[in-house]
Parts: sequence; C-alpha cells; structure tokens
Amino acid sequence: MKNLIVDILRNNERFEIITHEGPDEDAVGSSRALAYGLLSMGKMVKLVYPTPIPSSLLFTPAPKNHKSVKPQISILLDVSDMNMLGGLHPRGEIVIVDHHKTENKEGMTCWIDSRKSSASEMVYDLLRAMEIEITQAIASNLYLGIFGDTGGFIHANTTPRVFRIAYELARAGADPNLIAYRVRRSKSMAYFQILCMVMDRMMMADGVYGSYISLQELKRIKAKPEDASGIVEEMASLAGAELVIFLKELNPDTVHCSMRSKSGQSALRTAQAFGGGGHERAAGFTLKGRACENIDEVVEEGLKWVNKG
Ligand code: AMP
Ligand code: MN
Ligand code: MN
Repeated sequence: MKNLIVDILRNNERFEIITHEGPDEDAVGSSRALAYGLLSMGKMVKLVYPTPIPSSLLFTPAPKNHKSVKPQISILLDVSDMNMLGGLHPRGEIVIVDHHKTENKEGMTCWIDSRKSSASEMVYDLLRAMEIEITQAIASNLYLGIFGDTGGFIHANTTPRVFRIAYELARAGADPNLIAYRVRRSKSMAYFQILCMVMDRMMMADGVYGSYISLQELKRIKAKPEDASGIVEEMASLAGAELVIFLKELNPDTVHCSMRSKSGQSALRTAQAFGGGGHERAAGFTLKGRACENIDEVVEEGLKWVNKG
C-alpha cells in the first residue's frame, strides 16, 4: 500500500494534511515533515490541525503553509478515528496514513501498519521511497514524532528499525538532546499540580489504577489543555500498575479517557468497550458525563480485561 500512496503523492499537486485534535509530537512531527517533503517536490500543501498545536511543541521548524489551497487530496496522518477530527471535514479525496490498530477502513485509500512505531516512521519511509533528501528540518520533525510515540525510546514499539531511523535522523541534523529536553524537561507547574491531585485520589484495584481531573480543578489552577498530557504515563510508571486509566474533563459534559497497559491488550479492549480505540498498550475514548461519575465503570471494565491476561 505504501507504493499506492507514493503514486498519489507524485501524481497530484495540491494537498491538505490533517492530523488529530490535540496534536501530539507524532501528529506535529509527521505532518510538518511530510509537508516539507511535498513542498520540495514543488507541490502546494495546506496543514490543518483540528485544535491548535500546544505551544510546547512549536519548537521544530515549520514549513510554509498554503492556507488558501483547494486540495485534490486530503492526507489523514496519525488519525485512527474520524471522531478525532474535531468535526472538521476533509475537502479533498481522503488518503489515510496511520499506525494505529483500527478496523473499518475497508474501501478507503489507506496505508495502515500497526507494526510501525509512529506516523513519523511511515513518513520517513514515504520520503525515502520518493528519494527526497532528509533535511535538518525534516529530520528534526520526524525525530520529534518518533521520540514522542515511543515515549522516548521505551515503549514496546521501540524496534531495532526505530533506532536505525533515529540514527539516520540524528546524522541528518536532528538534535536528540534538544528534542528530549523540550519534550521531557519543560513541564509547567500546572502539570505537577494536576499530578498531585490525580495521585492523591487514585483508585488501585488488582493492577488497575484509575484517577481523574475535573474541569473545575483545571480552571482553578489555570491549566492549559496540554498541561495534562503525560499524566497517564506518570501513572503507568507506578510499580504494580498493569492498566492505568486517566479521565480528564474536556468540557462540562465530555470526558476524555486515556489508558496505558504494561502487557496484554487491556487498554485497547477497554477503550473498544466504550467505542474508542488506539493501540494494544495505549488507547482512549471520549464519553458524556462527569469524570467522577464514570471512573468506577471504566475501572470495572478494565478489571475484566486485565484478568484475562
Ligand atoms: P491518548 O492517551 O489520548 O494519547 O490516547 C492514546 C491512544 O488512544 C491514541 O494514540 C489513539 O490511538 C487512541 N485514542 C485516544 N482517544 C481516542 C478516541 N476518542 N477514539 C479512538 N481512539 C482514541
Ligand atoms: Mn498521535
Ligand atoms: Mn502516532
């Protein structure tokens, strides 16, 4: 399927690149790198983010953005579910490039490979297949995406191939130290305030650890949306946690659930039970209601899957 995508990229002129709402390192890095690649081929590219890029992820080079372009092709990068487009409608013919484990993509033009660490790894493959030079700007963005989705080269998706690509990207000018420090050592005070509240009220039952943060609490400490990113990873670093569940209120009646599991498929299975998806060990969903009203039910569902091994 990669070759089909390469043909589409070569044979069209006007593109729109869309990633998921709440763009993370991979969404930002893969989209910017692909845009640089297409621009170097003389194409027109519009970059679309359903919600703004967090200010902490704005440090990598940003390509020119042809905002007024009417796209022939809309490339959906790192988007596992159309619900993650924040209601945005692609304007061109849809092409999906993604590394999430998802179903129901039959009949769509897509390259989906859940063995890849990140959408950034897939963009690297596409750029190499098209013999596009990996400039420092491209390398920095791809490294950011791979670093983000592998959790800084610690998750199960950290394959030998990931290290080989990271090596190539570092050689091409990506700065591993700068990127790691920007992603890992730039936490806000609000992040730690959230962490304190979340740890304080954590429910721990048979390896399933669940907690939440309310909208009111986020407002009280004047948290920005991105201030809660990384909290679920922190919970997952607790000894004994097999499945961690973190609920965050997005608005008065919508909650986002983030999950991480150490082994097995409990994160994905629990997410699917609530209509969400993701990867075996990192999955999520959104639901209606308040966090404090839903946490028990999600933990109970998680317990069913953890016990299945
Ligand atoms: P997060 O904890 O929000 O970073 O989400 C972890 C993974 O879960 C993401 O990489 C997505 O693949 C998936 N995911 C998160 N939210 C949703 C959702 N609302 N629907 C489907 N999949 C989701
Ligand atoms: Mn992502
Ligand atoms: Mn990703």
